[in-house]
Amino acid sequence: MTTDKIPVSFTCRKCGTNLQWSDDANDSTEIECKNCGERFGTYRDLKNAALEAVRDKAVSLIKDAFKRR
Ligand SMILES: [Zn+2]
Repeated sequence: MTTDKIPVSFTCRKCGTNLQWSDDANDSTEIECKNCGERFGTYRDLKNAALEAVRDKAVSLIKDAFKRR
């Protein structure tokens, strides 16, 4: 199983700009779109969202793998 096909990136739901934050962001850092100012909650929220996205993807990969047997 490869994990390099799981995209973990965030784009603004309003304008599509890639979200960015500084390297020293911590869990309580508020993340907002640099382009339109849309707020996305904290760095911690984004990390949790990423974890869930990866988990969902992993589950579907595993299901596919077992389907093919
Ligand atoms: Zn935006």
